[in-house]
Amino acid sequence: MRLRVAGFAVIAVAAWFLPYQLDLYGIHVMDIAIVFALLAVGLGLAMGIGGQINLAQVAFFGVSAYAVAILTTRAGLGFWTSAVLALLAAALIGLFVGIPALRMQSHYLGIVTLGLALAFTNWVTNSTLTGGADGISGIPVPPLLGIDMANEYFYYYFELIVFGLALGFAGFLANTGLGRRMRAMRDDSLAAGAIGAPVPLLRMAAFVLASLYGGVAGVLYAGLIRYVAPETFSIANMFLLLAMVIIGGRQSIIGCVIGAVALSLLREVLVDFSVYAQLGFGTVVVLMVVFAPTGLAGIPVRLRQALRRRTSAEQRAALGPFRPDTGSDAERSPGAGLEISGISKQFRGLKALVDVSMSVQPGEIRGVVGPNGSGKTTLFNIVSGIYSVSAGTASVDGRVVTGHRPHQLSQLGIARTFQNLRLFGQMTVRDNVLVALDRSSMWSVWRYLLWPVGVWRTERGLRRRADEFLERFGLTDFAGAAPRSLPYGIQRRLEIARAMATRPALLLLDEPAAGLNGQEVGQLSDIVRSIRDTGVTVVLIEHNMGLVMSLCDRVTVLASGSVIAEGTPAEVAVRPEVIEAYLGDSMNTADIAAEVETEVAR
Ligand code: ADP
Ligand code: MG
Repeated sequence: MRLRVAGFAVIAVAAWFLPYQLDLYGIHVMDIAIVFALLAVGLGLAMGIGGQINLAQVAFFGVSAYAVAILTTRAGLGFWTSAVLALLAAALIGLFVGIPALRMQSHYLGIVTLGLALAFTNWVTNSTLTGGADGISGIPVPPLLGIDMANEYFYYYFELIVFGLALGFAGFLANTGLGRRMRAMRDDSLAAGAIGAPVPLLRMAAFVLASLYGGVAGVLYAGLIRYVAPETFSIANMFLLLAMVIIGGRQSIIGCVIGAVALSLLREVLVDFSVYAQLGFGTVVVLMVVFAPTGLAGIPVRLRQALRRRTSAEQRAALGPFRPDTGSDAERSPGAGLEISGISKQFRGLKALVDVSMSVQPGEIRGVVGPNGSGKTTLFNIVSGIYSVSAGTASVDGRVVTGHRPHQLSQLGIARTFQNLRLFGQMTVRDNVLVALDRSSMWSVWRYLLWPVGVWRTERGLRRRADEFLERFGLTDFAGAAPRSLPYGIQRRLEIARAMATRPALLLLDEPAAGLNGQEVGQLSDIVRSIRDTGVTVVLIEHNMGLVMSLCDRVTVLASGSVIAEGTPAEVAVRPEVIEAYLGDSMNTADIAAEVETEVAR
């Protein structure tokens, strides 16, 4: 941390004194590089932090630059008035691109954004308002405190200050509530939704942020060059931008800056070989994607990981004991009843669930068992809002939950884990918990613009609670680790901790003991019991019959999508239809049939 601050200080001082070493051409190149760096930071926020493919960044840039040009030269407005309107225009376009993001998955969105970028270049090349291929010249010099802004040296300092602020804001954003939710969405949007992150709005936020940075870059560009023409905002430049972000390292804001500055300078050096340069950039991008997906910024981390022997502290790190919630921050959960009535779910021809009904009392531990493919996970996906139903309803504490989005259900107190772990892989263990602890609504993002101090206070409170929480789940030693680097049992524990961090009233656990050793199963059993003791209702899908028998108050048995038995563990275990369903699964009827057929053929 201290090293990082020192690094920033050195770079800031170097940037401040740089113009003394540069001639007029050099400073011009730097002025352009800063504009591209701003664009790259915006693109990095959308792509690296938010995980959204955004090929409209040049369009955001262009809308803003052209808006300044048109408003100053055609409408006669002052530069700064035009600049504010231009920013608004860019943000509006960002919002516009974000609308399909409310419904669509990111790959299709990539095409939508490409379409927008193409439409924009088409429009500026052909419209008379934008001066067609000739562009618009005569943008006035931005007036600023009597400083001669036509002087590119002074303009450099102006840009540097704006850029410093924009960079600081991006860093702040990436490491606090909004950015953390965006990173969670990038790593696993399904799991992010399940812990309450409003995924559609976050996707939209990613585009709006990118457009704001594009907008600021557009204003700076218009004030610097004072002339706009279509070629600056072409698809070729969009790909150059992409190359900057990918080569620099899109998940790191600093990486985006490094990529932008490096490629801007390189482009100047190679200006006489521009065709080869483009080919070269393309090749480097492909190589980077294959061999160094985290870009230049990720190389030091990868080297360190490769070279480092595990430190003694890490070797000693162990999964601590789970400490039951003793009521300090407990606020006992009220516990919610779950009522499922007549639910059917069909996937095209396949009936995964047929008229399933069950009723779970508040504070109960309910087991759901059944052979593979009997529809257990499908049932959880319905209750947690991931799947819609074909018929029937599910309600939690009397509120119908079918038809709501996962993040809304998380706010209503439903939490879950996944059969195949879904942790946020590129985030630390602490961040995985933090993102779930953060229950603030999306409306509170206004504070980023108007009251960042408030954001920071909330953040400090969250971090304190996260540390307590990790301690309680025995995960303190791994707080800074990447989940994937941890043994399976610890990952399972983390996923339960993350679900509990949302303070649920109903917890759905999908095969939590799968892959655990005997000791870990014992710990799991203690954890689940203690969770129930704080009032939370638990529904547990499990194949480990010992665990089910010892832990559950009642058990529901599913087979081929229907409930075939329900009762206490002892009652259910002796029912003939249950034994048959399980035997059928373990002996694998298809294999038996195949064997019989080969016998007959002989
Ligand atoms: P379980 O968890 O009991 O092993 P699942 O609920 O995962 O079973 O699956 C029940 C059935 O529904 C399986 O036949 C599975 O192939 C099918 N199924 C589950 N999800 C989907 C889906 N998204 N699309 C198509 N079929 C699905
Ligand atoms: Mg399953």
